[in-house]
Amino acid sequence: MKYYSLNNPNLKVSFKEAAITGIAPDKGLYFPESLPQLNRSFFENIEKYTKEEIAYQAIHPFIGDEIPESVLRNIISETLNFDFPIVEVQESIFALELYHGPTMAFKDVGARFMSRCLRYFTQGRKDKITILVATSGDTGGAVANGFYGVEGVEVVILYPSGKVSTIQEKQLTTLGKNISAIEVKGTFDDCQDMVKRAFLDPELQTKNLTSANSINIARWLPQMFYYFLIYQKLKSKNKPILVSVPSGNFGNICAGMLAMQMGLPINHFIASTNVNDTIPRFMSTQKYEPHPTIETISNAMDVSNPSNFIRILELFQQKTNLLEEKLSSYSFSDEETVQLIQKLYAETQYLADPHGAVGYLGLAAYREQYPDTLGVFLETAHPVKFPESIEKYLGIHIPIPQSLQPILDKPKHSYEIESYKNLKDFLLYK
Ligand SMILES: *Cc1c(COP(=O)(O)O)cnc(C)c1O
Repeated sequence: MKYYSLNNPNLKVSFKEAAITGIAPDKGLYFPESLPQLNRSFFENIEKYTKEEIAYQAIHPFIGDEIPESVLRNIISETLNFDFPIVEVQESIFALELYHGPTMAFKDVGARFMSRCLRYFTQGRKDKITILVATSGDTGGAVANGFYGVEGVEVVILYPSGKVSTIQEKQLTTLGKNISAIEVKGTFDDCQDMVKRAFLDPELQTKNLTSANSINIARWLPQMFYYFLIYQKLKSKNKPILVSVPSGNFGNICAGMLAMQMGLPINHFIASTNVNDTIPRFMSTQKYEPHPTIETISNAMDVSNPSNFIRILELFQQKTNLLEEKLSSYSFSDEETVQLIQKLYAETQYLADPHGAVGYLGLAAYREQYPDTLGVFLETAHPVKFPESIEKYLGIHIPIPQSLQPILDKPKHSYEIESYKNLKDFLLYK
């Protein structure tokens, strides 16, 4: 499979090249040059397959012979070695819990898959690749954990000092080895600006800098696995399936819609956002007008210019009338989100995190018109990661899961920096 730049369809590269560089030289996002179609018998027999087999069938057309079958199967089993429970929260409403991975973020799947692809591609290479990421919380932890100990890859994570939660900070700063945590005196935007500057800095060219956000196809594509698992679990109920995805950069939902274009029988997608509502507005006005980003309690979705939306448009040949048949989008305030968390807990004892709660609200809004369907919302983070909002609004204490305990006892190691020059010196001379 070749991938073209969305800025120039004639600029094509291999999966390997796209995974190593992240973004095209003309700054376009990479997109597969064709959409593989999975055959009918795959879907007819899907309940007989393991999650690893489903994932292999779904992703190998995107990789072709660039990774040998046995290596790819091994990458997949390391990527998916935890549970993906689907819980019936109310009649015909399901939560797909994506937070049972090592850092309790749904980004674990993408980070683990990407890191292992890079491990394969950098074998025998003399120079190292350096992954540079800015994080406001969850991305950094998933990337740090996914790349920990991967040979040939150095990871440098920038985070704003004092602005990430204790659990999140420990997930970044306690690993060591090939993972360096850079604590920036400033905001998340300052971190992101430094990262952008580093990518453009000619003196850092020799460092082979690359990114690990959902722009990278090796992080973006494996997210489609979730949607095949939904179909596998709900198929026997024989009803149309709706899926609502709490969305920020729109990488996750875009992977789901890609799966649909490959033949996966999901009837409709709902992109649920917080008050950063560029896409809900776009879907009703056809005008793409980002506003300044607003901070919310579902902070992983505080994005006003979602980078992957252009890929969703490309899936529909940039035709919004075709897109409308398959995608609806709604936005919700923090107040509505908190009320829903309280109501759901009171009525069902189900504990939603603020991101999942936004997903639930979008599902409920769309499903009103189509009650004879199965609705699924994605639960993208463990509620324990948002103790401030959950404990405050529900008046309950959420115990920290066993699996997170060990890192809380480990000492923190970070490099404190104040300026871009500090970062550059670190990258050049560390
Ligand atoms: C990253 C993230 C999202 C948004 O996912 P996108 O692919 O950027 O749309 C939603 N919820 C949580 C908890 C996240 O970490």
